Amino acid sequence: MAGCTTFTTPAAQSASAARTIQHDYRTKLVLLGTAGGRTSWNGTKLGGISSAIEVDGDVYLVDFGEGWQRHFLQAGLGGKHPGGGLAALRAAFITHLHADQVVGYPGLFMFGTSDGLSTRRSPVRIFGPGSRGSMVPMEGRQAAVAVVSPQDPTPGTVRMTESIYSAFAIDINDNIRDSQKPDPRSLVQVEDIRLPAGVVVDENRNPAPEMPPFLVYQDDKVKVTATLVSHPPVYPSFAYRFDTADGSIVFSGDTSPSANLIRLADKADVLVHEVIDTRWVDELLPMPRNASQAAKAHHLLHSHTTIEEVGAVAQAAKAKTLVLSHLAPADGNPARWSKAQQGFSGSLVVGQDLMWIGVGSRH
Ligand SMILES: [Zn+2]
Repeated sequence: MAGCTTFTTPAAQSASAARTIQHDYRTKLVLLGTAGGRTSWNGTKLGGISSAIEVDGDVYLVDFGEGWQRHFLQAGLGGKHPGGGLAALRAAFITHLHADQVVGYPGLFMFGTSDGLSTRRSPVRIFGPGSRGSMVPMEGRQAAVAVVSPQDPTPGTVRMTESIYSAFAIDINDNIRDSQKPDPRSLVQVEDIRLPAGVVVDENRNPAPEMPPFLVYQDDKVKVTATLVSHPPVYPSFAYRFDTADGSIVFSGDTSPSANLIRLADKADVLVHEVIDTRWVDELLPMPRNASQAAKAHHLLHSHTTIEEVGAVAQAAKAKTLVLSHLAPADGNPARWSKAQQGFSGSLVVGQDLMWIGVGSRH
């Protein structure tokens, strides 16, 4: 496949450059939001983690971070589609059920009908993780600590979605009756991703055993495969690969350096990978750390991929272009991110909200 257009950062992509890519390529990656974690952090202006792929007018979404819907429309996605906006959204894929990936998910049901969803002829397919299966184990007195929703403490995507309908029932029912809007349940088809037979997981000891990628979704424009990645204590946490006629795009989701991800991203044209700055963790949680601070630092450093590690991951995958997203901290210094080039011989792109990246050749 022909290479993709890339941009060196920190210079921001101009609006006209974005428009050129939007017009000149059949397959495009658009970064809707690039912040890892909460977006209130230090007043960052970044959107929450969310990315879109547009293939010849149809759109596929990965994660529903804060502000994804605003940036979806602002980017001009779905412009060519009758009905516009979310009418072009064909399928969405949730990497894992941390808040920064799904905090904007309810918006799909609350405002989606006004943003074009109700003009779609077929429901949007939504794929996400199933239940964790068991709660994170705790020892001693900690084990008796009260949890939220003890009757269902680890819901997967389907049950989370049903709970959203109940929690927002007053608005949804008002809209169905008073404004005669369609029932949002009729506009989506939500599924928990089932692992292939034979993959045995211990969600507490090894949430991402080595496994071959497996098929999640396919239509006439994309084939989407997935694998488990390592983001403890979260389980399941998925990475996704989109293969199109113009090339391949892989999303790491949240993960520490992962053999499964490297296998999934083999020779990918574009690898969108999360990244964390260890220097920020040291500043945020200086020594000496109490138990809670030590636990937080351990999660940040062992469930994510550092600036020093991410280049080697992309190199091992033989990816052509590495795009950094899910930046932690969201207000990080661009000069720090550029150090991710270390150990990687391909092109490095430091992701920015509303950045467009063309895949394949210009038409
Ligand atoms: Zn996460």
